[in-house]
Amino acid sequence: MKLKNKVCIVTGAASGLGRGIAHTFAREGGKVVIADLKLAAAQATADEIIKAGGTAMAVGMDVTSEEQVNAGVAAVVAAYGGVDVLVSNAGIQIVHPIEEFPFSEWKKMLAIHLDGAFLTTKACVPHMQKSGKGGAIIYMGSVHSKEASKLKTAYVTAKHGLIGLCKTIAKEGGEYGIRANVICPGYVRTPLVDKQIPEQAAELGISEDDVIKKVMLKDTVDGEFTTIEDVAEVALLFAGFETNALTGQSLVVSHGWFMQ
Ligand code: NAD
Repeated sequence: MKLKNKVCIVTGAASGLGRGIAHTFAREGGKVVIADLKLAAAQATADEIIKAGGTAMAVGMDVTSEEQVNAGVAAVVAAYGGVDVLVSNAGIQIVHPIEEFPFSEWKKMLAIHLDGAFLTTKACVPHMQKSGKGGAIIYMGSVHSKEASKLKTAYVTAKHGLIGLCKTIAKEGGEYGIRANVICPGYVRTPLVDKQIPEQAAELGISEDDVIKKVMLKDTVDGEFTTIEDVAEVALLFAGFETNALTGQSLVVSHGWFMQ
């Protein structure tokens, strides 16, 4: 039980990677908060965890809204007494070549990935300071925090930006035992990726099978997708690591697509 009674907020936890991380944290004894734009789906994830014997609550939260983030974190503190772990994971993908990228969609991407990470961090840090126990902040980056791909200007920019945020929070958090790290997954079959496959096929004029083999997995060592479980294990490592020895880092989990 690496997270016994730790209060863990996971944004975007109604689906995909966030949902997998929430289940893993609950199995390790965490009190897990499923924070998501989609409240009904968030409640469904919380219900699954409770049914499996874990502790969880759902919170409706648009991570781009300061008001909703602050209200959500306040509700968590009222229910569970504090915050020990934040996983800033909510995200979307929008792909276009730069010359066709609508400015409104660029701003939406940066708002969800960067404003969301900033606002949730800002709301949680005071509680981690106050408890005297510090905490763990985990940002969901991507191989695109390190590498670029065509059509992904907004995503690559936002995911690189998380590394800067992480390093700064690691420095500011040091004296309080607040650690910040980034997970950088390769492609994982979640709804976010399943939606991209036909979109990229259309944009690049190739088959969906070729998008998987020749674009998404072409640089991996074995042609395999990273899994939700792989990413959840890394999240658990960062969440359960109790000292400042491991802070300000980014760990790539990508079947060797990107090597440091
Ligand atoms: P997903 O679509 O399965 O889940 C994303 C969740 O975020 C959804 O439940 C959605 O409702 C929620 N969300 C979206 N906008 C939100 C907002 N404004 N406020 C609150 N919640 C919001 O996607 P996923 O693949 O699980 O992606 C999760 C994170 O992992 C994202 O940050 C993504 O960029 C990152 N990532 C994914 C992959 C991959 O291959 N799937 C790889 C690297 C990084």
